[in-house]
Amino acid sequence: MEFIMERKLRIGISACMYGSKVRYNNKGWDMLEPLGRERSDFIWHPVCPEVLAGLGVPRDAIRISGPSGSDVWTHQAKVVSSGGKEISKALMNSSEFCIKLLKEAKVDAFIYMEGSPSCGVYRTTLRDKRLGKPPGVFGHKLLEEAFFLIPAADLQSPLRWWDWRRRLYAFAWLKDAPLENKADLYAIWHRMKFVCQEVDQVNARAFGHQIAKLEDSLSKERLEGLRFDILMMLRKPSTPARIKNMLWKNYTHVRKKLGYDIEGILKPEDERGITKLAEELILMERIAYENDVLMGTTPISNRGRKGR
Ligand code: SF4
Repeated sequence: MEFIMERKLRIGISACMYGSKVRYNNKGWDMLEPLGRERSDFIWHPVCPEVLAGLGVPRDAIRISGPSGSDVWTHQAKVVSSGGKEISKALMNSSEFCIKLLKEAKVDAFIYMEGSPSCGVYRTTLRDKRLGKPPGVFGHKLLEEAFFLIPAADLQSPLRWWDWRRRLYAFAWLKDAPLENKADLYAIWHRMKFVCQEVDQVNARAFGHQIAKLEDSLSKERLEGLRFDILMMLRKPSTPARIKNMLWKNYTHVRKKLGYDIEGILKPEDERGITKLAEELILMERIAYENDVLMGTTPISNRGRKGR
């Protein structure tokens, strides 16, 4: 089994986060700017469910009247504009249309604007403020369709983006990985378990115990269910403290294999900012790849892709 991502990933994105001035107040931000040249590593699919619902720019702001955007789908909540007009049906239709477009384009992930009553998914940065009553109407569909979901705000932090990117490559690779039998499952889990243990220790442990007891012959349905369990673990973000610890564990493993120290990797107790930590992680990934050593926390490399 090859553990390299050779194709360019396709990423959907809330159009206003891609720089398009499609927000109700005629604003938009280029949240991809911090990625620099790395931006061309991906194919982008910007969509705006509100514009596709026939609402123009500028327009009245909208809000969810009811518990959350999920409840709009069961008619327990409504979407209303600040002018008092109900637009639930139009927004549900355009959300379904956007999902159809993204699925037909074989999009791997979606970068969403947090807090939006349409595109919002979770509120991850302002935990005490449930802005937009998450998930939004379109956000509900993104969750339901099991997309890999990245909050746009996290692109501004080199460490958070590193964390999302390594899991994104693992997620996209795993979605298409051959999985015919128990041997394939074990090979996949051997590769993915380190990152899953880092981000979701409880479920990763339970999963490890579960597959250790599996019978030899597994149905396609059972195998796909187990694939889905790993995919869902990969959607969870890590924390700087856990990332720092895993970096050191990986470093000691790689150093042992190589037989020499790597300049530029600090000890866990050494003070450093998150930008320096992200640089160390990228250095470790490069050295592990060049020396054909597994860096457990970055299970799938995109370095083998042509042109890199
Ligand atoms: S958050 Fe979504 S619906 Fe709102 S302007 Fe941005 S892309 Fe459009």
